[in-house]
Amino acid sequence: MKNNSVETGAHVFCIANQKGGVGKTTTAINLAAALAVLRKKVLLIDLDPQGNATMGSGVDKNAASISLYEVLLGESTITDARVRSETGGYDVLPANRELSGAEIDLVQMGDREARLKQAIDAVRMEYDFILIDCPPTLSLLTLNGLASATGVIIPMQCEYFALEGLSDLVNTVKRVYHNINPDLQLIGLLRVMFDPRVTLQQQVSAQIESHFGDKVFKTVIPRNVRLAEAPSHGMPGLVYDKNSRGAKAYQEFGNELVRRMKREGLKQSARARA
Ligand code: ADP
Ligand code: MG
Repeated sequence: MKNNSVETGAHVFCIANQKGGVGKTTTAINLAAALAVLRKKVLLIDLDPQGNATMGSGVDKNAASISLYEVLLGESTITDARVRSETGGYDVLPANRELSGAEIDLVQMGDREARLKQAIDAVRMEYDFILIDCPPTLSLLTLNGLASATGVIIPMQCEYFALEGLSDLVNTVKRVYHNINPDLQLIGLLRVMFDPRVTLQQQVSAQIESHFGDKVFKTVIPRNVRLAEAPSHGMPGLVYDKNSRGAKAYQEFGNELVRRMKREGLKQSARARA
């Protein structure tokens, strides 16, 4: 009975795409905030040494005395390292530049893909959702994310090369599923920074739908300047201007995700009974 948060703890979702600047961090922060509005208990793990998810949640990455780096190295725990995002209403496991060294340190350690999962296991029951903001690489850090996750959410822009880059990620997800993490599922693709006036975007959007069917979330996130402004104020766009189109879309995405998880949970318990 996988993915049933009542019995196995939080849904653990990686927000991943190996391209940079496609909206991963914006999605991670705003989804965390949207789930918090729904009174879900959320932990946002910043797996990117750039620390954008940390800063965008109003947490000073340079002031964080303990970060994900120490947790991955086994020198600390998530319980000791997590910080509250006062603006977002969720917990953050902060990251900063130190984390870029983890890649090298981890290579020499045992269980190097499983370090994050071991840390998460200790807090899994405390949350409804654990979101992992992945770096724009298919590195050992991302592998730690995928090895910990029950699902992957892929934000993507509807641009010409979007589908091409996607196959590498989908193949990596499949490999992780077969080799290290049988709980891993593709939860869905989220179209972000969408501009309906651009014909090419409409075409690619339709292509994505025909390719991935019901794996594509119904909610589409528009390009909206309020979402881009929010991080410099240290808060999710959803909080910064809750009436903006971007904020409303991310709230709707949170609602859709929760509905989808509920449906999946029902399907799984029906299957378990059968
Ligand atoms: P990634 O984490 O994949 O590198 P980001 O979430 O940091 O991507 O987004 C890249 C840039 O695009 C950032 O400057 C962000 O503020 C901006 N951005 C993201 N989503 C939107 C959106 N829906 N509308 C406008 N700007 C956006
Ligand atoms: Mg990012």
